This record gives sequence, C-alpha cells and structure tokens, in this order.
Amino acid sequence: MTRRRWIADEWNASSAVLLHGQAAHLATVLRAQAGQEFDIIAGGTVRRGVIEQVRADAVQFSLHEEIETAGPLPLIVALSIVRFERMEWAIEKLTELGVARIVPLLAQRSEKHLVQAALKRAERWRKIARESAQQSRRSDVPEISDPATLPEWLKEDLVGLRLALSERERVQSLRASLDAALDPRSNIYAAIGPEGGWTEIELSKFAERGWQSVSLGPRILRAETAAIAVGTLVGAMLEP
Ligand code: SAH
Repeated sequence: MTRRRWIADEWNASSAVLLHGQAAHLATVLRAQAGQEFDIIAGGTVRRGVIEQVRADAVQFSLHEEIETAGPLPLIVALSIVRFERMEWAIEKLTELGVARIVPLLAQRSEKHLVQAALKRAERWRKIARESAQQSRRSDVPEISDPATLPEWLKEDLVGLRLALSERERVQSLRASLDAALDPRSNIYAAIGPEGGWTEIELSKFAERGWQSVSLGPRILRAETAAIAVGTLVGAMLEP
C-alpha cells in the first residue's frame, strides 16, 4: 500500500514537522491522530513517519527507515512562456511525469505582457511543482528555474542530448533521435517554442549550439501538449 506522502517543513535525523497549511489539512480535514503513518520527504529522501503529536499549526513525526523511490527522469524541459493557465497546467503535468527541471523560456515570440509578468510568477510555479510532486508521490520536487531568455539558457553548459522541438521539422522525429541516442545516464534537454513558434534567429542559435531539430508529427500541437508529449515519450522509453 502506498502511504500518502508529505514534504517536511522542518526535520532532523529522527523527527520532522509539518506546519501551516499542511498541518491544518492533516489536523482538521484528515483528522490525523498520533500513531498514524505517512511517508515523509525530508531532505531528498523518503522515510516512514509516525505521528507523535497533532496540533492545528504543527504536526510532529518521528522518522523511521528510508523508503526506496525512483529518481526523476533525466529530462530538462525548457518551455517557452505561454498563457499562464496553460503554463501552470504544463508545470503540473510535467512534474507528474517525472521531469527533473523546467526552465521557463522568455522566447522572442512569447507575448510581451506575459514576459514582464513571468519574472514574478516563478514562486507560484514552484508551489505548483511542489504540490504536484507530493500528489504524484515523487520523492523530489523538480527545479523550476528563474525565467531566462534563450541566449541566457544556452550559455549554461548543457551536456547531453539537446532537442529543439519544431513543427517545421519534416525529417527527424523525436522518437528517432531518442532511439539513436538514449542513454539513461545522460541528460536530455527539450525546448518547446511559444504559440507563435520559434523565430529564425532562435532556430539558428539552436543549430549553432548543436541542438537537433525534431518533430512530433504532422500536426501542430499547442506548446503545453508538445511538452507533455515529450515527457511521456521519454518516460515510456526510459522507464518501461
Ligand atoms: N506558430 C506555429 C505553432 C507553434 S506551436 C504555427 O501555428 O504554425 C508551439 C511549439 O510547440 C512549437 O514551437 C514547437 O516547439 C512545439 N510543437 C508544436 N507542434 C509540433 C510538432 N508537430 N512537432 C514538433 N514540435 C511541435
């Protein structure tokens, strides 16, 4: 049986505490009681936790043996900024699918007002990732990077398979690129363009840096659909 999983707000080697909203939920909605067991994520590991004390603002656990868990997919998705409700949906789903990191990209064709507002959104996106990680019983929370422009992101030393998703690619499929180069130990980077697609300048920047342009088939997908498709395909190929 899988126990419900919580991310500790504070912990040490033998105990952990959940505070605020998590404590209130446990205390008043779930009516948690001393002696009940849950999985507690404390510092990147998952341990069996036994409730020692319940208050509406703090629930105290003793921590016991470690529980084995799968790590994240070695997949980093750079997702161009799209309308925020779609962006949030994509962050939630990519977290469920196991991606290691999401980079919100300020693409040239990302809408200007979204680009300005994005810088203040990162905290909210991190909260969504945290909640989704917990809901999907992940033992880690994917990193949500600060929003970056493509040149800023390409400056990072990205080692691994680098894939620029493009609806204009007619020859190379994502599947073929993964088949040819799939190494479970190395990172896969996938970049998804905004609703207006990549500009010529962006496509040439990818090419200069050795990114492969890859297709998801003959239909035009929305950015968030393309992101989910990449996460699903990589997951299916690495974690059959
Ligand atoms: N402006 C384009 C659509 C862009 S779709 C048009 O209307 O013609 C947004 C992003 O999703 C693209 O930049 C690409 O990264 C990804 N995408 C959508 N469909 C795709 C496909 N068939 N293959 C690969 N990537 C795709």
